Amino acid sequence: MRAGYHALFIPGPTNLPERLRTAMFVPSEDQRSPDFPKLTVPLFNDIKRIFKMSSGHVFLYPGSGTGGWEAALTNTLSPGDKVLTSVFGQFSHLWADMCRRHGLNLDAIEVPWGEGVPVETYAERLAADKNHEIKAVLVCHNETATGVTSDVAAVRKALDAAGHPAMLMVDGVSSIASIDFRMDEWGVDICVSGTQKGFMLPTGLSIVAASDRAIGETTRAKLPRTYFSFEDMLKLNKDGYFPYTPATPLLHGLRASIDLLEEEGLENVFARHHRIAEGVRKAVDAWGLKLCAREPKWHSDTVSAILVPEGFDAGKVVSHAYHRYGLSLGAGLSKVAGKVFRIGHLGWMNELMIMQALAGVEMTMRDLGMQVEAGVGVAAAEEHYRRSAAGASSTRAAA
Ligand SMILES: *Cc1c(COP(=O)(O)O)cnc(C)c1O
Repeated sequence: MRAGYHALFIPGPTNLPERLRTAMFVPSEDQRSPDFPKLTVPLFNDIKRIFKMSSGHVFLYPGSGTGGWEAALTNTLSPGDKVLTSVFGQFSHLWADMCRRHGLNLDAIEVPWGEGVPVETYAERLAADKNHEIKAVLVCHNETATGVTSDVAAVRKALDAAGHPAMLMVDGVSSIASIDFRMDEWGVDICVSGTQKGFMLPTGLSIVAASDRAIGETTRAKLPRTYFSFEDMLKLNKDGYFPYTPATPLLHGLRASIDLLEEEGLENVFARHHRIAEGVRKAVDAWGLKLCAREPKWHSDTVSAILVPEGFDAGKVVSHAYHRYGLSLGAGLSKVAGKVFRIGHLGWMNELMIMQALAGVEMTMRDLGMQVEAGVGVAAAEEHYRRSAAGASSTRAAA
């Protein structure tokens, strides 16, 4: 056994703050007791602030992000409904694949991996759809496989410009609570998340934020649903209860997570993620390597997918880092397997923690014979953090 903490830099599950771990260390509870709603009712309200929404409802299912995708589709759509989406990474691919399996009529625009949602093509498709056959437009806010963040607000603008009534659905699994997201302002109808990324908890809850409009669609939506039924959930949630046994320790964890995020201040949380991510990007640059994200406008503040030079296998970086140094990195998935390795820098993370990952990656790359000079990436990140760290977050966010 290796002494010390294992260095966990995968893009989920993320590091678990001690305060959240202890918050979940509770005895089993009576989920039908008169006291239970004291936990749940404030939770249902307060989590809305994380999504920047003032109405609608946030559904909390025992499940993971994938279950949240299914809840979003089955509660609001009918078989054969037309859905517009785009595929540019493993997660956008999987949600599209789920649409197909549910018998939806999918228009999935293929985009090179390393780019994000093709807003102009969306705009064309929406403008051309005079009969409003498209019922939902899907956006993967942060494609975790490639480290690409897309512009959700621009998709809202495209919908409005076309005067199109389609619902806007967002996969926010690796962006919520780490990258700015505005449910109300961007007119998002459903945003799917989970506990194990920005919320800094173990996997176990699908978190599905739904607008009043999305909830209203349940009366028309004919896709079969039981476990994920919004209607069943709402009937009991309104008094603080659930239609089946809730994951009570995770609900306590979520309570503590929201409190922790709000103590730091959501805007400060976003600024911290940006600052840390910028340091990682400076290191990548200093190594002479490129990100999978093709342009700065796509840069993700929660995960960086780094391309290895021709002739090297990124899988070896991941396995060597793990075995030699006790460092977990994200592997390349599907189309970019062997081509990228990923550093997750979201959640309970600070500058000195990420320096550990950067040092480990640098040592690994040198061990594997890549042309990387000792210390250059770490030095570039150090200088960035020296300039930007020291208590700068609150003043920056206020500015
Ligand atoms: C992690 C992730 C998912 C899948 O979530 P699970 O909790 O693994 O089911 C979906 N979308 C994105 C963008 C993710 O990062």
